[in-house]
Amino acid sequence: MRKRIAFYGGTFDPVHCGHITVAKRLLSLFELDDFVFLPAFHAPHKADKKPTSAYHRFAMLAMATAGLPNITISTLELDHAEKRYTIDTLPEIIELHADADIFFVMGADSWRDILTWREWEKVLLMTNHIVVTRPGYEISFGHVTEAVRSRIVDLRNSHESPTRTATNPALFITDAVSRDVSATEIRNDIREDDRLDRENDVPKEVAKYIEKYELYR
Ligand code: ATP
Repeated sequence: MRKRIAFYGGTFDPVHCGHITVAKRLLSLFELDDFVFLPAFHAPHKADKKPTSAYHRFAMLAMATAGLPNITISTLELDHAEKRYTIDTLPEIIELHADADIFFVMGADSWRDILTWREWEKVLLMTNHIVVTRPGYEISFGHVTEAVRSRIVDLRNSHESPTRTATNPALFITDAVSRDVSATEIRNDIREDDRLDRENDVPKEVAKYIEKYELYR
């Protein structure tokens, strides 16, 4: 049996309970062997906003995932210490895990903005993707090409198994997760009130870390 590994790219500034819920839920729903967080050195399409240092973001991810079996972190993008695009990283991942089926995970907001990704169609056709619903974002398909649309397996309100083997890579849409948390809101809250208001939005250890190092003030 081929292994099944998901990669979840993002800034994770900070990692929050929305991200963790996505990881746990997809791990079981897609019968994955591993779920890997892939923090970006600097999200290329968010070039206007400079994220918190990679060290802090990695440390928070490490604490949030320490007790979670099969949920790990890849430093593939951080190691390059420069802007990287998914079109550069994904072939490396596929080559490193030639014996596995790869699933690239994104939220509904990333899906909406996918046309801003470098060589987005190539990225979408290169491997399996999982698009996860997110409160406040409708999922539509009008912005992508027919080649991409023909790969869509919409699992919303469906009993179809996401583990079926397809000949071509598929683009799965799932509503298995619905958590209204965003890193921007967390950062804004802290900046405005000097403290983390919605403590349930981030794992406890992450909340303590943010407090200790006075992040986002
Ligand atoms: P920001 O508010 O700064 O954009 P974010 O909360 O979206 O941050 P990112 O690190 O940018 O966090 O997200 C990484 C990936 O996780 C993206 O693909 C994003 O769409 C997805 N994601 C983030 N939060 C959620 C959520 N609550 N539900 C589903 N997907 C999410």
